[in-house]
Amino acid sequence: MTGSVHSWDISTGTDGPGTRFVVFTSGCPLRCLYCQNPETWRMRDGRRTTVDELLREVVRYRRFIEVAGGGFTVSGGEPLLQPRFVGELLHRVKELGLHTALDTSGYLGARATDALLADTDLVLLDIKSSDPARYRRLTTVDLEPTLVFARRLAAMDKPVWIRYVLVPGLTDDPDDVDRLASFVSTLRNVERVEVLPFHTLGAVKYADLGIPFPLAHTPPPGPDLLRHVRDRFDRRGIITT
Ligand code: SF4
Repeated sequence: MTGSVHSWDISTGTDGPGTRFVVFTSGCPLRCLYCQNPETWRMRDGRRTTVDELLREVVRYRRFIEVAGGGFTVSGGEPLLQPRFVGELLHRVKELGLHTALDTSGYLGARATDALLADTDLVLLDIKSSDPARYRRLTTVDLEPTLVFARRLAAMDKPVWIRYVLVPGLTDDPDDVDRLASFVSTLRNVERVEVLPFHTLGAVKYADLGIPFPLAHTPPPGPDLLRHVRDRFDRRGIITT
């Protein structure tokens, strides 16, 4: 079984709990204005990689990951663009006894089989806006499939961390944030909402690829804005980080 993979890495604190082995798959149907990984957009730019090859790497770090209380995360790009490959990968890593996480926009959630989700301990679900028109402007695709996927995960009682990238002028509208907080408060399986401040560190990748970075002149959110947005979730009893 092979898939198109951009890279893999060890990370701490950004892709699920603890220190994690993270595989970044290639290919994504979205084109988020604030994407920090444009080099993962096209599947054909990735390297054909077998599940066995990745497993050999995971096994090398297994002990270290276990001691660090971490696990394995498949991210992207959009992992669910390659559901059979990703399903097999999660299954084999689960057999090793490691904690598994899937980092997804949820847009292709319908492609995640129940078996794939059974091998997933945690879903990191990016909800980029609660407003369909803004979501489309931000990502080029529809919001509804992500909401459908979120409800399906809730019905399964699958642990979820919601991720929300806070971009001044784009995703900081109080009504949008309140609508998202209301939606999340109906999902009993959501353990936390990660409010992630927008940054421009990925700008250099756009320059390397010769693609204009649409938000090159957008500033990161200040501490007051971050606090105000987190407060709107906190008020509904939702844990934020
Ligand atoms: S879903 Fe993720 S990888 Fe795809 S364009 Fe958006 S931010 Fe980039």
